[in-house]
Amino acid sequence: MKVYKFGGASVKDASGIKNLTKIIAAESDNLIIVVSAFGKTTNALEKVLKAWLNGEAKYNDLLDEVYLGHLSIVMDLFGQGSEVKEKIDGSFALLRDYLLTSIKGKYDFEYDQVVSYGEIWSTIIVSEYLRTYFHDVDWCDIRENLLTDDRYRDANVLWSESTKRVLSIFDFKKKRIYVTQGFIGGTVAGQTTTLGREGSDYTAAILANMLDAECVVVWKDVSGILNADPKWFPDAQKLDEISYKEAVEMSFSGAKVIHPKTIKPLHNKNIPLYVRSFLSPEEKGTVIKADATLREIVPVFIKKVDQILISILPKDFSFVMGDNLSMIFHSFITHGIKVNLVEASAVSIDVCVDDEREKVEVLINDLKTEFSAVYNEKMEMLTIRHYTPEALILITEGREILIEQRTRSTVRFVVRKV
Ligand code: ASP
Ligand code: MG
Repeated sequence: MKVYKFGGASVKDASGIKNLTKIIAAESDNLIIVVSAFGKTTNALEKVLKAWLNGEAKYNDLLDEVYLGHLSIVMDLFGQGSEVKEKIDGSFALLRDYLLTSIKGKYDFEYDQVVSYGEIWSTIIVSEYLRTYFHDVDWCDIRENLLTDDRYRDANVLWSESTKRVLSIFDFKKKRIYVTQGFIGGTVAGQTTTLGREGSDYTAAILANMLDAECVVVWKDVSGILNADPKWFPDAQKLDEISYKEAVEMSFSGAKVIHPKTIKPLHNKNIPLYVRSFLSPEEKGTVIKADATLREIVPVFIKKVDQILISILPKDFSFVMGDNLSMIFHSFITHGIKVNLVEASAVSIDVCVDDEREKVEVLINDLKTEFSAVYNEKMEMLTIRHYTPEALILITEGREILIEQRTRSTVRFVVRKV
């Protein structure tokens, strides 16, 4: 069996879903189809959530807009008076009811309860549409099968219990094609969780691991993985194959190709991942697999924007690399701040992180009895894998460099945004 993953951009309207159906029709193997929320639904639901939490009545209008978007797709695909419309109406009614009656809990918890609906709606519509073409399609509610802890918005999968459930629910003796939600899961107690933004790739990899899939195919609006963002370097080139290691390094450095957590479950079972274009499905795309070689070694450029650089100094001028180090990093983990780069000297340490200002302020406040901490905002982290002298000049010329780190294969800069 194979796992196919379709992101929001591939299913942003009725024609996207028809295109998906064509791609499915060309595959005769058993399939799990992991689908994200349609288009920009997740962003729109984040706005609904914020308005609701702030007690603003406009949350209703924002939700109406999301509803009308889905309704127009349902109308395009199924026409007037369909059962699918009733299903979607019923699901929106559940959310409206939740927003009307529930007592507001913590942000992360409410985020998962509200934003997860995007994937429920998209998968209902996609599976119903596929059913009009193929007789052996089922919809699966992943919230009951992919179990996680209760770290809302960044939930950790409970592997052994989830594997049991996943193996029993995706039964290819019963159906050939299953459609399920990316990005979301559920606690043992039955609360919905999410795996982090853009987490559907990760869902696809988890299911592939549990079911020993032959491969995962992520269908995107690009021809494969490129050696740079074409918005940054217009003559970016496609890479035919890259290793798991290369892929992890690229996504950790900020490449938007796939969710950073995606590779590990695939690597552990040696399952290849194909990145292919849903716009030109006849093209081969890029494969990520063990022992892949970059055919000719080309520099790979990666930019991570919206960074801040925190400098932390023990107040008593003690060395930072001793006991202080574990205290500092413990605090980063406790506050859920992911560290992108670290540079240490004798009595200070610089840490580059995503600009999540609220979390960082809390962290600095936490450390303040023993450390003084300040931060530089408006930073970017630039990485070149397989750098060349020309590549270095290309990305650093005219930039203010705050940190530079170099190994034989990789160079990284923290620079001020221009
Ligand atoms: N819909 C979710 C998001 O936009 C998950 C995903 O697209 O992978 O973050
Ligand atoms: Mg999405």
